Amino acid sequence: MSSLWTPEQVAFRDEVRTFLREKLSPVTRDKVRRGLALQKQDHEDWHDALAEKGWYAGFWPKEYGGAGWDAAQTFIFNDEYAYHGAPWVLPYCVNYVGPVIFTYGNDDQKARFLPDIVSNKVRFCQGYSEPGAGSDLASLRTRAVRQGDHYVVNGSKIWTSHAHFADWIFCLVRTDTDVRPQAGISFLLIDMKTPGIEVQPITTIEGHHHVNAVFFSDVKVPVENLVGQENAGWTYAKFLLGHERMISADTGKTRRHLERAQALAEERGLQDDPGHKAQMAQFHVDLKALEWLTLRLVQTSDQHAPGVEASMLKIRGTELQQRVGEYAFDLLGLEGAAFDIAEPETDETPLSGIARDMLLQKATTIWGGSNEIQRGIVAKHTLGLR
Ligand SMILES: Cc1cc2nc3c(=O)[nH]c(=O)nc-3n(C[C@H](O)[C@H](O)[C@H](O)COP(=O)(O)OP(=O)(O)OC[C@H]3O[C@@H](n4cnc5c(N)ncnc54)[C@H](O)[C@@H]3O)c2cc1C
Repeated sequence: MSSLWTPEQVAFRDEVRTFLREKLSPVTRDKVRRGLALQKQDHEDWHDALAEKGWYAGFWPKEYGGAGWDAAQTFIFNDEYAYHGAPWVLPYCVNYVGPVIFTYGNDDQKARFLPDIVSNKVRFCQGYSEPGAGSDLASLRTRAVRQGDHYVVNGSKIWTSHAHFADWIFCLVRTDTDVRPQAGISFLLIDMKTPGIEVQPITTIEGHHHVNAVFFSDVKVPVENLVGQENAGWTYAKFLLGHERMISADTGKTRRHLERAQALAEERGLQDDPGHKAQMAQFHVDLKALEWLTLRLVQTSDQHAPGVEASMLKIRGTELQQRVGEYAFDLLGLEGAAFDIAEPETDETPLSGIARDMLLQKATTIWGGSNEIQRGIVAKHTLGLR
């Protein structure tokens, strides 16, 4: 793909690769490659290394402590670190709440949160989904009632990723029940240490704990933690979701998983099997098409206002990840369940992430807004319906 890039972009890719080789701990890389659970410290160490280099929030404007990367640099960085097995940069601070604060927050909020985010001193999680409010997010019921200088919050959130690591939660709450659902939602920043918050773990299908249920009982939140205008939260929520979908193509990870599938096929003596070769060729064609689609979109769209492009990337990227994962799992045959799921922490087999990754990837077409919903967004846009 190098001919598609400018000399400066090629040099930047080399710089990212060198940094990854020098700074990424082999232990963490191995955990990522084998699909093992990352501990809070693994994320912290990696985030610290990025923050020290000035790359933790690389795409942020320089005035807020970012490196001012353009969309192509952001893509190159994401692609390389995923390919090399660096941990996912937990997106809740840098990709989600940070851009909301620097776009819609007031000066006090910018001063209070942005320096701590960019230096990895604070962690957020995302409180959008509720039991009964996922795809139909605007029907959310967690209630915030203004009482003097604070709100009182009651309700619950679900599927809250990494809430057990978080210092803060950014939350969509209902502040008006007498208007159409979208018009009565506000965006609150809530300190996770506030009395009345309870976090309960949920174990997902691959056996890890990364999602939670979060309960709010009479939680007092100062009014200064409201971002933007009361009842205008839906606008900020949609802005944030565009950023969430923009990072979901994950081409670097799919390239790594394709190499792993090929290594497994070779180990099993299947490398010359015509069916295998045809399947791998199809995957490579689909991945190349996705990379070019991504490149076209990052070069033509304003990454600070991602729109329908983000939905297209999410659909193509996540479905390819799933197909590659399922193919590799098929290659494992019955051994998949035996050596992959039973004892993850003591498993020494280098190809062992396959079953856990395949199971975890089931969630990629659900989180960030299910792919059925994304197809609806693309269809409406294409047909000119609003
Ligand atoms: C691993 C994981 C991590 C997550 N992390 C977070 C997080 O950190 N914070 C957070 O707020 N949320 C998080 N989520 C929640 C995620 O955003 C929701 O699961 C998702 O939006 C779908 O909502 P739902 O689960 O309520 O499913 P539902 O909305 O009940 O949908 C069920 C099915 O119906 C389909 N469907 C629903 N409506 C339509 C429609 N109009 N047209 C066509 N099909 C439709 C859906 O596509 C889906 O297949 C996470 C989810 C997962 C699985």
